[in-house]
Parts: sequence; structure tokens; C-alpha cells
Amino acid sequence: MLLAALILAIPATASPAQEPDLKGCRRCDHRGVVDCPQHDQDLLALERRVNFCAAAARCQDCGGSLLVPCQRCDGGPETGVMEMRRKEVAVWLAHEDPLEAFLEKPLVRIETLHFLFATDVDQLKRGKKKVDGHRFLHELARDAEEAAAWIDQHYAPGEKDYRARMRLWFWEEADSHLKVMRHFLGSGSAGDFKMLGHEPLFSVHCHDRTFKGIEPTLRSLGVHNGVHMLLSNLWTEVWIGDMQAGWLDSGSAHWYEEQVYGRVEHYCIDEAVIPPDWNGGVWRAALRELLERKSETLLLPELVKQQTGAMTPEQQALAWSVYDWIVATKPDALAGLLRGAKVRTPSREMFPALLGRSLLEAERAWRAWVSETYPKKEKKRR
Ligand SMILES: [Zn+2]
Ligand SMILES: [Zn+2]
Ligand SMILES: [Zn+2]
Ligand SMILES: [Zn+2]
Repeated sequence: MLLAALILAIPATASPAQEPDLKGCRRCDHRGVVDCPQHDQDLLALERRVNFCAAAARCQDCGGSLLVPCQRCDGGPETGVMEMRRKEVAVWLAHEDPLEAFLEKPLVRIETLHFLFATDVDQLKRGKKKVDGHRFLHELARDAEEAAAWIDQHYAPGEKDYRARMRLWFWEEADSHLKVMRHFLGSGSAGDFKMLGHEPLFSVHCHDRTFKGIEPTLRSLGVHNGVHMLLSNLWTEVWIGDMQAGWLDSGSAHWYEEQVYGRVEHYCIDEAVIPPDWNGGVWRAALRELLERKSETLLLPELVKQQTGAMTPEQQALAWSVYDWIVATKPDALAGLLRGAKVRTPSREMFPALLGRSLLEAERAWRAWVSETYPKKEKKRR
């Protein structure tokens, strides 16, 4: 007792060797550390946005902390932060990754709040430029988390309402894609493939005939599928696309994709013979024109019964617009709609209960809103 009291009585300044109160120097802005020189400045910003990146974690100089000790002083207030982060990253990296273990090679892996990304791609094409797999994955991580932040704002999930992190894998060789598909998904599909609901997983061969290594297309593909995965995993692990709520499944995937990129490139159609397209993915003016042209035809009653896989590109654009209308006018109905769809509540029952309108009234209100808010003309992009 007496000993403990004595130790407590000794002020911290009396033992500088154990409790250094270092202030850094002018060269390090009094941090005691500087940015690790092994990473490009713009990549550093992307690295700081993610929980963990395996490529950064393998950096010999900083061990993924992104910081190295200042050479001009003995350290400063951020020295401890650097040391703690190094340890944290080392523990994460030491954890065996099932995908790396299966393929017997290191991958670029990135963990964010909602996702686990992995790739072994060397280079992708962005116009005339080349983008390496590591940078691609970081930019995808940034965009996918942007979509996830919108989803979280609209659906307000609690801490454990997502049951898993969504896994998205991008492969250099067709063979790796096929191998992991067989092992992890029990599928032999050569095209891009996803598993929804329980432990969602998406895998694609980046250089196949559809994607041809085109980076912007693969990035928006990741975001589009990430949205399907998040909403299929939320609350009840079930995909609503084949439960007569295709409009909600496809409408939402298009909405968040459009929100991030300003256009829609991906359609909810698997292995289409001809790549689907509706007005170049720029939809507002075209949708307005379509609805005004078809003013005599009721569209909603038919639309809300469809399965995702059976919808035409035009129906997918309509579903996107209905979702757009709900986001703009009654966003707090979205969570109820998704929860209802997951237990097969028909949309004709959910509309009056959650939107306060029958399908007929909803159709009128939605069309009026489209005529009021969508432009008459719109520039095509890209
Ligand atoms: Zn310094
Ligand atoms: Zn990284
Ligand atoms: Zn480093
Ligand atoms: Zn889709």
C-alpha cells in the first residue's frame, strides 16, 4: 500500500525516460512524425479513408501507419499514434485471409466500414491512361462508401443490421474468377456473378468480353452491385428481386449508381446477348417525355409486380424514377418498403400504408412530380 502511494506521488516529469513529453520540431510541424514517402500524396488521402489496406500494410517503411519518425527530432505528440497504428495494422495483416490462402498469393485487399474489396489486377484502362489495381480498388472503395452513406441515411440501420461486410472481387485472369466462383460460390458462371442475401459476394473477371479492363465501367459495376448486396443483407438476409419487388431492387441499385456517377451504366439483367441500354443512361428528360407520351396508360400496377430479372431496360428506368420520387418526397417510407418487401407484402398494400396513396393515386402524384422536376432536355454524357 505504502509503495503504491509513493509511486503515485512521483510527478510524471520526474521520469522523462518513461514518459517522454516530446514536442517534435519545426521540420515535422511539431508532430514527431512525417508522412511515409513510399505513398503518392493523392493515394495517402485515399489510404486514410479506409480501415485497412493490405498494400499499405505491407509497406516496409511505415507498416501501414502511413507515418514514419521525423529524422530531425526525437519524436512528438503523434509518435504514439504511429506506433499504435503500426501494431493494429500488423495484427490485421497477420490474420489469415481465406481468399489469399485459397489462391496461395498475396492480394490487394481493402476493408472499409461496409465492404471487403480484393483484386489481383495489374492495370486497367481509363481513357488513354492506365490505372493500377491498387488505385482502382481505393477509388472504388471511396465511391462504394459514398453510396453506402446514402443508403444508411435513407434506411438508418442499427449497428448490427448488416450481417456481414459485402465482398467484391476483381480478377486479372478468367481462371482465378472461375476458381473462386467454384470454391466460394459453387457456381461455374463465366460472367460476373453475385450472391445476395446471406454473406453477399460479387466476383468478376475484369478483362472479359463485356468489361475489357475498362476502369470506370468496372468501378460503377462495383458500386451498383454493392448496393444490391447491402440492401439484400440489411435486416433480413433475403434478396427481394425475385419476390415481386423488382422495382424496389432495381430502382434502388440504379438510384445510388446514378447519384454517385450522374448516369446509369449497369442494368439488372444477367448475361444479356446485346448490352442493355436506355437513353445512354441519362434518364430524366427521357423519362419525362416517355410518361407524357404514355399519359393514357397506367404503368405502376404492372411495374410493381415484376421480378428484377424479367424487367426491360425501360421498366428499370421507370423503377429508378419511382424510387427517385420516393427519395424526394417521402424518404422515411423507404425502410418500411424494404422491410415489407422482404416478407412478401405486395406493393399495392404497402403504398397506401407507407406512402398514404393507393397505386393509382401514387401514379398520378409521381407523374406530376416528374413533369414538375425533370428537365425537358438533358445533355448526353461521355
Ligand atoms: Zn521533427
Ligand atoms: Zn492502399
Ligand atoms: Zn509506407
Ligand atoms: Zn442491378
